[in-house]
Amino acid sequence: MTAEPMISINSALDEVLAAVTPGAAEEVELLAAFDRVLAETVVSPEDVPSFDNSAMDGYALRGADLASGRCDLLVTVEIPAGHHSDVPLAAGEAAKIMTGAPLPPGADTVVPVEQTSQEGATVSILQPVAPGEHVRHRAEDVRQGDVLLERGTLLGPAEVGLLAAVGQALVSVARRPRVAILATGSELVPPGTPLGPGQIRNSNSFTAHGQVLAAGGQPVPLGIAHDDLAETRRLIARALEEEVALTSGGVSVGEFDFVKQVQEELGVERRFWRVAVKPGKPMAFGVRGSCLVFGVPGNPVAAMVSFELYIRPALLAMQGCRDLYRPSVLAAADEPVAPSKGRTEARRCRVRRDGDACRFSTTGPQGSGILRSMALADGLAFVPAGYPGAEPGERLMVMLLEGRSTLRPPYPG
Ligand code: AMP
Ligand code: MG
Repeated sequence: MTAEPMISINSALDEVLAAVTPGAAEEVELLAAFDRVLAETVVSPEDVPSFDNSAMDGYALRGADLASGRCDLLVTVEIPAGHHSDVPLAAGEAAKIMTGAPLPPGADTVVPVEQTSQEGATVSILQPVAPGEHVRHRAEDVRQGDVLLERGTLLGPAEVGLLAAVGQALVSVARRPRVAILATGSELVPPGTPLGPGQIRNSNSFTAHGQVLAAGGQPVPLGIAHDDLAETRRLIARALEEEVALTSGGVSVGEFDFVKQVQEELGVERRFWRVAVKPGKPMAFGVRGSCLVFGVPGNPVAAMVSFELYIRPALLAMQGCRDLYRPSVLAAADEPVAPSKGRTEARRCRVRRDGDACRFSTTGPQGSGILRSMALADGLAFVPAGYPGAEPGERLMVMLLEGRSTLRPPYPG
C-alpha cells in the first residue's frame, strides 16, 4: 500500500491564507460595531478628557494654600458635573466641586470631601493633600492626534467605548464575509424531523453556522444536498456564488462522495486534499475566482476542527483582522497520553489552572463523530505524529478554543 499524500496543518494553513484577499469596508453606527474589525486606523479628533476636572467630590483649591499650611478657606462657588465657573479662585478661596466638574481657573488641587468639614461659607481642611492631587488632566487618556485604534483591531466594548469617548458616531468596519453552508449526505435530515431508518440529523450545518458567526462571517444556509450528482452540482454551484463555500461530507473516497468531482467540474482549482491531522484528514481546499472553497469532512468533530484550523483564520484575514490565531498554553496531562500514528492529533480537552501551571484532561471518547467531546472541551491538545505516548504529567501544547492572540499556533509538523 502506498502512503497517502497528506500535507501538514501548517502547510494547509499557509495555502489557505495565501488565497485570502481582504474584503471591502462599510460604515456602521457604533452600536452595530461590536465584534466587527476596524477597517481604518482611527486618529483621535479630540483630547479626552477635554478639560482639567475633579477626580473626587470635594473642594478645588490652590495647592499653594495648603503648602503654606493654611486650612480654613472661603467657599465662593459650587460646581456640579456638567457646569463650570469662569471666575478665578483667589488665594484663600475654594470651590465646592463634584467628580467630573471642570476645575475653576486658578485651582490645581482637589481635597476629597471626607477630609474636610464645612460650616457656613468656610471649609476646614482636616487632612491636607499634596498640591496637584485628585485632578484629572486634560488629554491624560487620549491626546488629539493620537492613534486611538489600529486598523485590524477587533471592536469589543472598550474599543467601541473609546470611539464614543472621542465623539465618533460612525465607524468603518470590514464587511462580514458571506459563507455558504451546505451539508451533503443522503442520510441527513434536519432537527425537528423524525428519523427514518438509516437517517441521522444534520448537525454540521448548525456547528458551522455558529463557527461562522463567531468568526465574524455571515452564514448563508443552503441546507442539505443528497448524495446525488445533479443535486450536489446545483447546490455547490449556488454555494460558489458567495465569498466562501463551505460544504461538509462527501469529500472522502466513498462511492457517493461527489464533492471533489463536482468542485472540479465547476472550475474549482484544488490547492490541497488530505491533511495529516486527526480528526480532519479528508479536507479539500480550492479556489474559484475569489471564492474560497472548503470541503470539510462529514464527521462532526472533524468538521469543527477543520474550521478552527483553517477557516476561522481565513475569515478573520478576509476582515483584515490583526489577530488570526487562538492563544495556546503548555499544559500537563492529567492522564496517560496515548500514542499517535502518522498524523498530528487534536485531542479535545478541558484546561484548568493548577497553581502557576496549566493542566488538561481529555473530554471522553475521541472518535471524530463524538460531538460531545467538542461540546465539553475548551481546548485542543496537539499530539505530534508518531508520538510514542507518555505518562500523566507530560506537557503538551493546547490551543484554547476561545480568545485571540497574534502568535501563530505551534502546530507540530
Ligand atoms: P462523509 O464524510 O460524507 O463520509 O461523512 C462521514 C460521517 O459523518 C458519516 O457518518 C456521516 O453520516 C456523518 N455526517 C456527514 N454529514 C453530517 C452532518 N451534516 N451532520 C452530522 N453528521 C454528518
Ligand atoms: Mg457523506
